[in-house]
Amino acid sequence: MPKIQQLSPSVVNKIAAGEVIERPASAVKELMENSLDAGSTRVDVTIEHGGTELIRIADNGCGIAPEDMPLTIASHATSKIRSAEELFHVHTLGFRGEALASISEVSQFLLRSRPHDADCGNEMLVHGGSVQEAQPCGCPPGTIIEIRNLFFNTPVRKKFLKTTQTEFGHISEAFTRIALAHPDVHFTLKHGARLVHDLPPSADLRERVRVFFGAEIADQLIDVESSNDQVTLRGFVGNPRFSRSNNRMQYLFLNGRYIKDRALQHALGEAYRGLLLHGRYPIAFLRMQMPPEMVDVNVHPTKLEVRFQDSGRIYSQLLGTLRQKFLATDLTSTYRPAE
Ligand code: ADP
Ligand code: MG
Repeated sequence: MPKIQQLSPSVVNKIAAGEVIERPASAVKELMENSLDAGSTRVDVTIEHGGTELIRIADNGCGIAPEDMPLTIASHATSKIRSAEELFHVHTLGFRGEALASISEVSQFLLRSRPHDADCGNEMLVHGGSVQEAQPCGCPPGTIIEIRNLFFNTPVRKKFLKTTQTEFGHISEAFTRIALAHPDVHFTLKHGARLVHDLPPSADLRERVRVFFGAEIADQLIDVESSNDQVTLRGFVGNPRFSRSNNRMQYLFLNGRYIKDRALQHALGEAYRGLLLHGRYPIAFLRMQMPPEMVDVNVHPTKLEVRFQDSGRIYSQLLGTLRQKFLATDLTSTYRPAE
């Protein structure tokens, strides 16, 4: 009979890494979310070779105290929740304390950080999960994380990576989702020598949409807004004349997080029933805010799917808001926002 053994932390982290970090884009998402959780108003993303050689994220957030630096890469270590009770009131994008543990297990990982009230920064170099070096260093207030040679010690995972261009495409999509969800934050994205995006902060989501998808798409968008005692819904949907052949231009955000939700996508489709031909999908950029206790974000490690306490109500709110808007809007001409 085979003997039962408890797996070592290193193996456990590699297993977790498989769930959370599927490809370079997953690491970019996790790091950008950490920067936002740290209250950053500026986040700079630098990528080399589709993220396989280098992912570098620099932010101006709260920074990490030197004594906490080793904890950032410990599994299930987080500053964001303290109890099971708090798990149901999560106000941050992260809370599982898994991302840095996973990433640092499968890469060469450099963390440099300086809290705003500290005179200098500290850096910690981690190679495949083991800390190589920790020492004071010069660095601006905030945090810089560099990930090199992702998956260097998990060759099977590395083999599944696609071309530089494909991997960068995924990174660019992850970047877009986060930048659309947080128009008030200054983001930049560099790939090699190319500055792909420089997005100054803007109060207006439409501005971000214009940068990513062009003026033609941005200028025809129809404003939607509705709120009840619990849920606030704000954003834009497309004029039916600008429908798409797939639903990839449907961006739904919940409490600052990009989500995929079949029910809400269905509600969108229903709202356009009779306005679109079969097989066509509306454009949407919708931001929802609701009390965190009304939604369970702990459904999947990547938190792409969530579970609403009352999904029927949100479905009806979205459908009702759009139907009303369409009744009040002349959809036959290209919509122009009021000056
Ligand atoms: P989680 O985000 O779920 O807490 P992570 O593994 O992503 O777990 O990060 C672990 C911890 O490291 C965070 O809880 C946070 O305290 C700290 N941290 C990570 N990135 C940053 C950052 N950019 N700025 C400040 N603190 C950070
Ligand atoms: Mg995190």
